Amino acid sequence: MIDFSYLDLCAISVLLTLIISTIIRKSFKGLSNRLFFLELICLFLCTACYITYSMILKKSEFTEPYIKLAYVFIYFYYFFKSFIIPIALCYVLSLLGNFSTHTRSIYFRLLIILLVLVPLVYVFSNLISHRLFYINHTMTIVTSRAFVFLYINNFFECLLCLFTIFIYRNLLNKKRYIQVFLIFPFILGLTIYLSFFPNEEIELFAYAMAVYLVFITSQRPELVVNSHTNANTLFLFMDKFTKLYKMRSSGCIIFIKIVNCDNINLYIGLARYNEFLTKLSSIFMDIIKKEKIFADLYYLENSVFAIYVEKNSASEIQFVSQQIAKILQEKIYFQVFEILTDARICIVRNPEDISSSEYIHYFIKNFHLVVPKTNNAFWLKDISATKEFRMKYEIEKILDRALRNNFLEVYYQPIYSIKEDNFHSAEALIRLKDPEYGFIPPKVFLPGAEDNGSIFEIGNFVFDTVCKFIASEQFKKSGLRYIEVNLSTSQCVEANLVEKVMNYITKYGISPSQLRLEITENASEFNPVIFEQNVQALHQRGISFALDDYGTGYSNIGKIISLPIDVIKLGKSFVDEIDDPEMLIVIKDTIKMLKTLGKEILAEGVEDERVVRIFKELKCDLIQGCEYIQGFYFSKPLPEKDFLHFINQQHLV
Ligand code: C2E
Ligand code: MG
Ligand code: MG
Repeated sequence: MIDFSYLDLCAISVLLTLIISTIIRKSFKGLSNRLFFLELICLFLCTACYITYSMILKKSEFTEPYIKLAYVFIYFYYFFKSFIIPIALCYVLSLLGNFSTHTRSIYFRLLIILLVLVPLVYVFSNLISHRLFYINHTMTIVTSRAFVFLYINNFFECLLCLFTIFIYRNLLNKKRYIQVFLIFPFILGLTIYLSFFPNEEIELFAYAMAVYLVFITSQRPELVVNSHTNANTLFLFMDKFTKLYKMRSSGCIIFIKIVNCDNINLYIGLARYNEFLTKLSSIFMDIIKKEKIFADLYYLENSVFAIYVEKNSASEIQFVSQQIAKILQEKIYFQVFEILTDARICIVRNPEDISSSEYIHYFIKNFHLVVPKTNNAFWLKDISATKEFRMKYEIEKILDRALRNNFLEVYYQPIYSIKEDNFHSAEALIRLKDPEYGFIPPKVFLPGAEDNGSIFEIGNFVFDTVCKFIASEQFKKSGLRYIEVNLSTSQCVEANLVEKVMNYITKYGISPSQLRLEITENASEFNPVIFEQNVQALHQRGISFALDDYGTGYSNIGKIISLPIDVIKLGKSFVDEIDDPEMLIVIKDTIKMLKTLGKEILAEGVEDERVVRIFKELKCDLIQGCEYIQGFYFSKPLPEKDFLHFINQQHLV
């Protein structure tokens, strides 16, 4: 025969282990984790009271103080026990993601109060009536038939939980549904068993086993709370969003993106940046608390936060968003740093503004591109009607359409050589003409192409078109030396870039020296090893390189020295500063330094004759300044035919 008090000791050991493990892992952040922790504490106290009460009964004599003490613990035991199933119900609702919606309903609050109060009042009525149970002279507890009501109550509470899980069954994925569903039949079966064999004290052990089952199957705290920000995770956000979207339950989400996160990261370092995110998270939480809105904060990675507001009015949401916008446009004092953030805030109505539940992934990634840069929060409904917005949003569809229907074209912009006083090369620039949106600038569609991987197909198209053009008779007659082709970041680190470029060269029988590849400094940040290998290998095969947009970002001289770059292209924003006498000194010194390193210089984006003259005449301490000029002053990028016409006209002049 099992001594059931050992089962209680096992139960309390299991519960204590779960509590310690939860505390050590700090996994009581987030609603479901908090409710689970509360359930553990409640069960632990309940079991502790029960064990103490059983010990008093077994080890003590029938004297007044011992009996009183036994009564105290048995009443405490019933007190804590009456919370177990109501907390379990709340936990289930939090897993289903609609706990806060329910808590706002007066009926639900009433139900929870009733679930707690009914057994409590029933048990405590025994203090007066002594009809439910009493301790007899042999120190054993005697229960009356009325005691069965407690089991019936327990039974109905379990049924209610099962019913809740059943009606929201489509909100949980199958695996989680089975996990959650399994716990309650377990307790239900136990309740039925106990109502027939009330003296077999296996109840607390069974409860402990049930929470243990939940702990090892459903409780994954790291999935729900982000360790950097203490906010809920993307996983939980998607879970909640998908559930509410399916239920068509109306709510609003305030999305906040720190656009200049990379700069802040560079400024304060990654470790501090993570702490800065924690600070932002607590700032947002403070606002939520201060304004008393029903909302949860999420950190969705990549410096994007989301505040899910379920029931507040539009004006309250607008007010909170503006408070956040106001804080983010001022300097934030963090440790010894003063940080100025550049944030975009967008409010999305769920489900009205959302076309499909997959759409939200795309939105999180790209919304900052379409939200105007002001100090305001925007409602998606107000900006989504514009053509520009739709174009940026449908960019993947547009790219797909362009690649399938050949809507892409390569234009050429002539490059002027000061020394030779003629156009000796050109830069190939991709163009996209969409039947619905018309001309779409590369700066708009190329980031989208990088994201969805179609940049490689676009890159192949450019290589094929350019190499074919170089191989043509017209090109040979034009006297042009080479064509420059832009490489995007992902192309630079493409594993088979060398093979691919060489294949195009062989396919059209052109010389590698007729191709010059333009790379940018930030391309190497992604994967410096492959990037350098690709550049070196192509250079060894006779292809030259130009560094694009120099001076527009953080220029890294080390990189320029280590890579075989022949030409440095001074970016338009750098060139535009030439009128400023101080910037002229910087430009001259930069050119002098680059020339000393053996590089040739090209000035990009030159629009007027005066600037052409300055660059032509530029001499830096007896070093001839600039070799090449490119810009609208000479010509805009032109379609192949017009470009050839332009070059041939120049020869005639
Ligand atoms: P980029 O390589 O720096 O190209 C120069 C850009 O400046 C081109 O813009 C050109 O039209 C523009 N530009 C040239 N002269 C002037 C001027 O005098 N004034 C002004 N305001 N602009 C001038 P575009 O064609 O819109 O291309 C933008 C960027 O898109 C390029 O900058 C390049 O980074 C990228 N891109 C263009 N074509 C390709 C391509 O085939 N492949 C890849 N990976 N990137 C490309
Ligand atoms: Mg370029
Ligand atoms: Mg450029």
